[in-house]
Order: sequence, then structure tokens, then C-alpha cells
Amino acid sequence: MSHIYDLVVVGAGTGGCLAAKTAAKNGLNVCLIESKSGEKVGLKACGDAVGKHHFDNIGLTYPTGSELCWELEGVEVFSPDFKTSFRIAGLGAKAFMVNRVEFGRRLVKEALDAGVEFMDKTTVLKPIIENNYVVAVKVKNNVSSGILKGRIFVDASGVSAILRRNAPEVPGFEKTVDSGDLEIAYREIRVLDDEIHDKTFGYIYLSQEYAPGGYFWLFPKGSNLVNIGLGVQFSRASMEVKNYFTRFIRDKLPWLNKAKVLDGRGAFVPTRRPLNNMVSNGLIV
Ligand SMILES: Cc1cc2nc3c(=O)[nH]c(=O)nc-3n(C[C@H](O)[C@H](O)[C@H](O)COP(=O)(O)OP(=O)(O)OC[C@H]3O[C@@H](n4cnc5c(N)ncnc54)[C@H](O)[C@@H]3O)c2cc1C
Repeated sequence: MSHIYDLVVVGAGTGGCLAAKTAAKNGLNVCLIESKSGEKVGLKACGDAVGKHHFDNIGLTYPTGSELCWELEGVEVFSPDFKTSFRIAGLGAKAFMVNRVEFGRRLVKEALDAGVEFMDKTTVLKPIIENNYVVAVKVKNNVSSGILKGRIFVDASGVSAILRRNAPEVPGFEKTVDSGDLEIAYREIRVLDDEIHDKTFGYIYLSQEYAPGGYFWLFPKGSNLVNIGLGVQFSRASMEVKNYFTRFIRDKLPWLNKAKVLDGRGAFVPTRRPLNNMVSNGLIV
């Protein structure tokens, strides 16, 4: 009989790595599957700001060395006319600006150190369902495809939701999320000619005209390095998200136009409340 894992976790993002690590530390035999390479799992569209309280809440050590780019004391939120702003500071508002690739590598390493078996460059194609229970997943990598069996499966595949979308029918379990609950976002890392005026704060600009259902952000990552981006509620986006981003900079923060772009990429962010039911038969999402 082929091997049956206690737990199979799909997706080695923050959620998947932490779920896999926690289960392995508690004695389960865990397999973590990720379509990207373990080295590059953290390379993704992100604002790179992680609240300090998240590290405290889940008992994760703070980023240090090359994983830590910068620290923010809080955020300043601007009204649509730019005339009013509020500074939110204090314990709950402190954030680390991380090197996202290094942060991702660390999370994978911590899972491996806890005894998790890691299959990177491997994509889950679909769940295998028997008697209305998830009992295995179909996987493929560059060389072959196969079936991986488990007792319980965790869908940590982010917005792609490969298991949730194909989960067994269970009353109250939502397989899809509404497009109004998704934000389409685009961000760039840019180098400025001059230092940022106050680089100890992140900046958020609210505008239903420029970012319907979302906002523009500017997060310092160093004295002249910034992560800037914009999110728009997907159901209200009437043009490419990058066009919203470019239009905001052109009209509101034109001084950013001179800054050199190091990297630009976009992705979806789920912004809804937690799902009502996160458990299906043999599956946790
Ligand atoms: C532009 C942008 C900016 C953001 N800024 C911030 C920020 O500043 N601070 C913050 O805290 N959050 C931010 N977020 C949100 C944050 O990135 C997400 O909440 C977080 O990444 C979710 O983590 P996750 O582990 O659930 O999913 P993900 O990080 O999406 O991880 C899912 C993983 O599953 C893998 N995967 C997917 N499908 C399969 C499959 N079929 N088989 C195998 N593997 C698969 C993917 O490759 C990926 O590695 C931002 C998001 C975006 C898009």
C-alpha cells in the first residue's frame, strides 16, 4: 500500500508553511506541496509590510539581518482630497518591511526543520474524492504525475483555492468567493533620487475615484527605497489595475515618476471576512 500522510498541505505561502510546521511539531507526518521552487516561494506581489503583532500572536521570531529591510512606527491615512490625514501609531500599528523572498525562505526552512516533507516545483491538479471525502490529491511536476494520499488535507493555495473550489459537497461550505470580496492589486518597488521625508511611517491614500473599493499605499523599505501599490475591488475595476496605479501617480504623487522601477507585479487579495465554514470532509481551508 502506498504511503498515507497524516496531513497534506497544499501551498507553501505563509499560511501553508505555518500550518505544516505546527502540525509536524505536534507529531503529525506532514507533506507540504508547492508549485514554485522553495527558494522563490516568497517572490510575489506584496506590500512587504507585516504587522509586528502577527509575529507576536503566532510566536514567530522577528525578522533580522537581510530578511528585515526597514521598520515602520505606524501608518498615515490620507483623505481623498489629501487635506486631512490621521496618523495611527503604537503597538498594534508597528510593522516590519520584509525582504519577501528571504521571509518566504525562512518560513519554508522552519517547516523543514520541524520535520515536514517538502515537495516543491509540484502542482496539485485536483482533489481525489471518494464517498464524498478528500482522500488524495493528483499532483504533477516536470517529470511525472501521481497521486498523494493523506488523512486530512489543508488548502493553503491562496486565491487559486485548488481544493476549496473542488471540495466535496457539504452544507454551508462555500466553494467560491464573490468577486466583490476580491481586490486586484499591483505594486512596484522603486528607488528614489532623494530620501523620503518621513520614512518611519507607511502612507495610505483613500480615494473611491482613483482606487474604487481599495487604496494606494506607499511603504518605505529604506531611506530611498519604496514599495508602492494600489488595490481595486475586483467587481468595480473597469480597466487594468496597472492603469489605476499609473493614473494615481500621474495626478497625485508625480514626484514618484522619476523613481527607478526595480520590480513590478500584480495579484489578487481576498479582503472578505473569514469563510463561514472552513471545514469540509477531509479538508481544512
Ligand atoms: C499586491 C499585494 C500586496 C499585499 N500586501 C500585503 C502587505 O503589505 N502585508 C500583508 O500582510 N499582506 C499583504 N498582501 C496579502 C498577502 O500577500 C496574502 O494575504 C498572503 O500572501 C496570503 O498567504 P497564503 O499563505 O494564504 O497564500 P499565498 O501567499 O497566496 O500562498 C499560496 C501558495 O500556494 C501555491 N499554490 C497555489 N496553487 C497551487 C497548486 N495548485 N499546487 C501547489 N501549490 C499551489 C502558490 O504558489 C503560493 O506559494 C498583499 C497581497 C497583494 C496581492
